[in-house]
Amino acid sequence: MLENAGNVKENNQERIFSLLRRKGGLTKQEIGTSLGLSMPTTLANVNELIEQGILEGGEAAESTGGRRARKIQVNGKAGFSAGIDITTSQVGFAVTNLTGEATVKRSVPFKFRDEPEVYERIGAELEQMLKRGRLKSRLLGVGISFPGIIDMQAERIVRSHIFGLEYVSLDRFHRAIPYPMIVENDANCLSFVELRAERSDYVYISLNRTVGGAIVQKGQLMTGDGFRTGEVGHMVLVPGGRTCYCGKKGCADAYLSPNVLSKDASLDRFFARLQQGEEQAVQVWDGYLEHLAILTTNLRMALDMEIVIGGEVGTYLKPYMNVLRKKASEYDKFARDIDYLHAVSVNRREYTGALGAALLALEVFGSSIIK
Ligand SMILES: [Zn+2]
Repeated sequence: MLENAGNVKENNQERIFSLLRRKGGLTKQEIGTSLGLSMPTTLANVNELIEQGILEGGEAAESTGGRRARKIQVNGKAGFSAGIDITTSQVGFAVTNLTGEATVKRSVPFKFRDEPEVYERIGAELEQMLKRGRLKSRLLGVGISFPGIIDMQAERIVRSHIFGLEYVSLDRFHRAIPYPMIVENDANCLSFVELRAERSDYVYISLNRTVGGAIVQKGQLMTGDGFRTGEVGHMVLVPGGRTCYCGKKGCADAYLSPNVLSKDASLDRFFARLQQGEEQAVQVWDGYLEHLAILTTNLRMALDMEIVIGGEVGTYLKPYMNVLRKKASEYDKFARDIDYLHAVSVNRREYTGALGAALLALEVFGSSIIK
């Protein structure tokens, strides 16, 4: 009986905490209404969370008369999560506070290999960063973004094309990083940069050097049978078309990787040429958007969800969204407006796999702050 009462309380506190983390500040009245809790229950739980330092009284709410109700919000500094982004050329680090704001960022140029000293170095870099920021005691968990298929149940990397790995145990990370930890596919991590109060169900497309994606439902990643949900890069767009690095012909990756726009990895230069109206760039871009329109409308037909287009190319997409929507309207005769397509909303500098991994860690481990 007592244990049950304890569980209910903890559960209510977790719900209040996650509501405020998503929505920002709300009055006690609004919290109770949103969660279907009585006023006494809401007050008791909110007060307890304030005493623990997890919530704080924020600015006064708008009011049409009488006394203004104070808004309650999450105390960002009460806890932190860290993200580590492993790519072919560097390892990136980020720390976010409880409200999801990035507070520390850095990247270290070194090549990842599956060797003990590499894991140790990643752990040591993290440790140094936490020490410098005096964050160690308030760290709730660590997220690691890795380019590969991750099986979190079996705790292993199933496969990584880029690093030529198969069936690598996550123990190697656990040994070097002694905190609650989650390792996720890189596109899955990036999808969490788009998670917010008004968007918790969406398909995320990552237009990076390898094209990938993720499906987020009620703020959680869909995993599928083999942890491959959202591998949109290997959906065939053109039968018998260009050869993909996976060996198939006509995969989306062969048409939508940034390599299609610029082989030397400079998208800045490509988009400058495009803006100057250089004919070759205009043609390449037109073909690129055409294929993107086919991919996105196919996904819309299958899933009927909002679609966020991210990855490197996604950060350049905003000025071209109307052209893309017009092309998409040729392939989608169900929608009156193609209002479900969105370019990633974060600016290029903020938008890193490490931030995504830290935000994922916050989703997974954030409520562990509630005692
Ligand atoms: Zn492929």
